[in-house]
Amino acid sequence: MVLQLLSAAAAVSHDAVPDWAMFAYLVSGVLFILALRGLSSPATSRAGNRYGMVGMVIAVVTTLVTHNIASLPEIAVALAIGGGIGFVIARRIAMTAMPQLVAAFHSLVGLAAVLVGWAAYLNPEAFGIAEGGHIHAQSSVEMGLGIAIGAITFSGSVIAFLKLAGKMSGSPILLPGRHVLNLGTLIAILGLVGYFTVDQSLWVIGVITLLSFIIGFLLIIPIGGADMPVVVSMLNSYSGWAAAAMGFTLHNSAMIITGALVGSSGAILSYIMCKAMNRGFLSVIAGGFGAAPEAGAGGAPKEQRPWKRGSAEDAAFLMKEAESVIIIPGYGMAVSQAQHALREMGDLLKKEGVSVKYAIHPVAGRMPGHMNVLLAEANVPYDEVFELEDINSEFGQCDVAFIIGANDVVNPAAKTDKSSPIYGMPVFDVDKAKTVMFVKRSMGGVGYSGVDNDVFYMDQTMMLLADAKKMVEDIVKAMAH
Ligand code: NDP
Repeated sequence: MVLQLLSAAAAVSHDAVPDWAMFAYLVSGVLFILALRGLSSPATSRAGNRYGMVGMVIAVVTTLVTHNIASLPEIAVALAIGGGIGFVIARRIAMTAMPQLVAAFHSLVGLAAVLVGWAAYLNPEAFGIAEGGHIHAQSSVEMGLGIAIGAITFSGSVIAFLKLAGKMSGSPILLPGRHVLNLGTLIAILGLVGYFTVDQSLWVIGVITLLSFIIGFLLIIPIGGADMPVVVSMLNSYSGWAAAAMGFTLHNSAMIITGALVGSSGAILSYIMCKAMNRGFLSVIAGGFGAAPEAGAGGAPKEQRPWKRGSAEDAAFLMKEAESVIIIPGYGMAVSQAQHALREMGDLLKKEGVSVKYAIHPVAGRMPGHMNVLLAEANVPYDEVFELEDINSEFGQCDVAFIIGANDVVNPAAKTDKSSPIYGMPVFDVDKAKTVMFVKRSMGGVGYSGVDNDVFYMDQTMMLLADAKKMVEDIVKAMAH
């Protein structure tokens, strides 16, 4: 969002930038780096956000002051329209729709890069990148790459939006010969970007744009199921590189710095996600790794097996008697907004002398950090929140594993079933806990990857079937008695 704002403002500042403005951009660049550093831990994230906001204000104000194409009223109208739309969307959006909203916003960054590139192509003198009607070789490469990355980001993000919003099947769509097709298209795009330095005809830039839209589509459709988190962070990274490319076209160093920071931090996040999922980074980007086309989101459990149902009273009694409880939140907790009730339950248990810990899987929920944000919102102490690798060994000594709205992240098929779309992904070893409580609404509902979960049918599992928030509130009531 901020990148779009900056790009809109930066589109008017191409001539020699005064020294003070360069210094101001440098200061904002440093503030962005401090922002990223702050955002790396929940305890410092508020300060990180503040650094980012101040950095962005400095960058935008500097760009507005040094503008020299559009008039201030024109810029104000553009900011008012874009800002107004963003404000209304941000107010109205449900927390559960955040992932698709983020994907939609990434698509706009991509589109902005394409439009800036085209504007520079159609009027290169105004951007100071041409002499005698011929665009400088360096600028034409920057422009070609900017348009290509922007178009890939745009069409890839539109597909990610459709998949995350459930408007398109979340399962991988595997085209025959897709690797050859993708590689061939990428080579063609790079070849055309090189050719564009000598032949700047409309058809060259047109074909670069078209092929890039197509490759964005081709790269994202084969990725699906449990690999979607990588797509989300990868597109985040692409949107950063698209903005950096725009910065080169517009000679705006703040955009280059910001874009590079977003691009590289998104790439690092994608790498971390791949490691967390036990996937090869390159195989995920190439598409379709670990894909089992027959297992689509929304499938039904494979067979009818016996299982045990428990009540809120049973759960309250057992947890109060326990020495240690590990809570595993997932997407369903976000859907029902159960985090506040959950913290209340944790507080009551701690009063009874029970050890309470929260276990967060890196891909729990529908966006990176989803669970951490919700637990922080409910003031769950940070020192009670643990990552997968730090807590997984504790399930053997734990009395109750309380799974609330999570499913794929506790599914043992990831360890045992080679045909499963989540095979290879590390999961919580909840089967080692003495008692497992599984909060979900029905036996039919499956996780994001659409596969049945053996944990439902284990001897020590008690299914607590209800909306997560309602169930936890009932447990809290039962504990108070
Ligand atoms: P899952 O999607 O696997 O499971 C969600 C569970 O919540 C289901 O069992 C569902 O069952 C239950 N549920 C839904 N609504 C409610 C409710 N109101 N009350 C109680 N339960 C509810 O979630 P996980 O967090 O375990 O796994 C995340 C999955 O999403 C992974 O496969 C991951 O790869 C994928 N993903 C993650 C992204 C990320 O960045 N983190 C991005 C995109 C995808 P029922 O319907 O019966 O209630």
